[in-house]
Amino acid sequence: CGIVGYIGKRDVAPLLLEGLQRLEYRGYDSAGIVITSPKAAGLRMVKAKGRVRDLEARVPKRFAGTTGIAHTRWATHGAPSDDNSHPHLDTEGKVAVVHNGIIDNADDLRAKLTADGVVFASETDTETVVHLIARAQAETLEEKVREALRHVEGTYGLAVMHADFPDRIVVARNGSPVVLGIGEKEMFVASDVAALVSHTRQIVTLDDGEMATLKADDFRTYTTEGSTTSATPTTVEWEA
Ligand code: GLU
Repeated sequence: CGIVGYIGKRDVAPLLLEGLQRLEYRGYDSAGIVITSPKAAGLRMVKAKGRVRDLEARVPKRFAGTTGIAHTRWATHGAPSDDNSHPHLDTEGKVAVVHNGIIDNADDLRAKLTADGVVFASETDTETVVHLIARAQAETLEEKVREALRHVEGTYGLAVMHADFPDRIVVARNGSPVVLGIGEKEMFVASDVAALVSHTRQIVTLDDGEMATLKADDFRTYTTEGSTTSATPTTVEWEA
């Protein structure tokens, strides 16, 4: 339902929780957040069925990070529960994904992955994408996501983090909105500009079939086939 992400120098958890609150008006049944930092090895995740304040209550006192993605879920596959909340992680806990939309061939993908020995931790359609990315043979995170998406039918706004690539967030859009917020040595992503306008008015709206890589001081956009697309930020007008 709602996505918000950040990469930069600021303490990420409060920023993301504030972003999720700005998306609450859309409705949701659960929320979650995953973070990392250049110093911390690995990803740290908290999620909860219920409201953003229920999630906030579970966030540990020390939850420092400068990169993260967060989600409010409106369940389509699997009942509202802690386990079905996003983000979803692969078995090793290295790949994290938040997803808006519906993976149409999720049953088929789940059956194939299960036959290959993958043990699922949730009932969601989204988790299939996580395992596809974790098992992709490609070298770069961008190519891993691209390789995974070749198997996926359906709609998605996706944001992906990977413990082995802590300097970036990779996002993809097909039928579910994704906007980038361009800051000064910091970048944002969201499913809705409402989550971004308190931080930046410089917005790039992804098209269907488009992906982006966000780094703290740089971003680029390209098609799911890998060719670069031009993305000049536009300034959004917004009544606060
Ligand atoms: N289909 C996904 C799920 O059920 C995402 C739902 C959403 O867009 O929030 O978890």
